[in-house]
Amino acid sequence: MDISAFEKNYLHIPSPIVELFDPLWNEQNIRIFFKRDDLIHPTVSGNKWRKLKEYICIAQDNPKKGIISFGGAYSNHLYALAYVGQMLPISCMGLIRGEELDSESNPYLSQMKAMGMELRFIDRENYRRKNIPDQFDLDDYWIIPEGGYSSHGIDGMKALVDEIQQFIEPNFLISAVGTGTTILGLAKYSNVTTLGVLCLNNEKEIEEHQHELRLNLPKLHLTKDYIFGKYASRPTELIEFCETFENQHNIPIEPTYTGKMMFGVYDLLKKKYFPEGSTLVCIHTGGIK
Ligand SMILES: *Cc1c(COP(=O)(O)O)cnc(C)c1O
Repeated sequence: MDISAFEKNYLHIPSPIVELFDPLWNEQNIRIFFKRDDLIHPTVSGNKWRKLKEYICIAQDNPKKGIISFGGAYSNHLYALAYVGQMLPISCMGLIRGEELDSESNPYLSQMKAMGMELRFIDRENYRRKNIPDQFDLDDYWIIPEGGYSSHGIDGMKALVDEIQQFIEPNFLISAVGTGTTILGLAKYSNVTTLGVLCLNNEKEIEEHQHELRLNLPKLHLTKDYIFGKYASRPTELIEFCETFENQHNIPIEPTYTGKMMFGVYDLLKKKYFPEGSTLVCIHTGGIK
């Protein structure tokens, strides 16, 4: 199946964009829109398709033995790749951090295996170095970096920016930050102030990525005020915020990424960070499995 047929028949693209209402921002004459990339697909959710698409195009146009990529035991990125690989089909291998694991260790891993992804479990040192097991010749495979982070992943955000700007001209684009691929892409392809809410302590790496890729992004701002300690931390305050948000807006968010972003947005609104009359577009990057 070619990529445009896959997008058209299986994915919800362009994804919906909806307006959120609350006295907190209505009183400041601020409008907030939520770009529902979480609705793109239940398995290929959020920003994962945007980051994969360019790679899949390249892999389809220049076939090799398959695609290899990396992730942890709960990687949304590998989960998405497994599904795409099954559908198109393209053979895919996931290198998973943790030699003590196997495909029965959790439901995501067993589903990835059931979707036909070959799983290899590697120790943390080899994972950190991103070593590919010896028996595989690098030239035979397309390699997608961990989390889809790369210039191809960044370029996938052009489509996201276009979809938003066809609908509205915002003053702020806001996203949760993992590898930084999404926020760097938003900053690269828009002329708007972009605000990235860090979800783990990797500000330095993201700055290094910008230098490596020679991206000069004066309108990019990153905040590390809403990490809540570390990646995937689940403090009660944040969990409760996610529940209240879902009850109020009828849109689920999770505490690892989108919850931290929206917590940050609410807090910044309380602090009058955004000028009166601003229009904000927050990206729902998914993560609800
Ligand atoms: C993967 C993921 C992110 C991180 O996106 P990056 O492009 O790596 O910064 C954000 N939100 C959700 C829900 C994700 O699954």
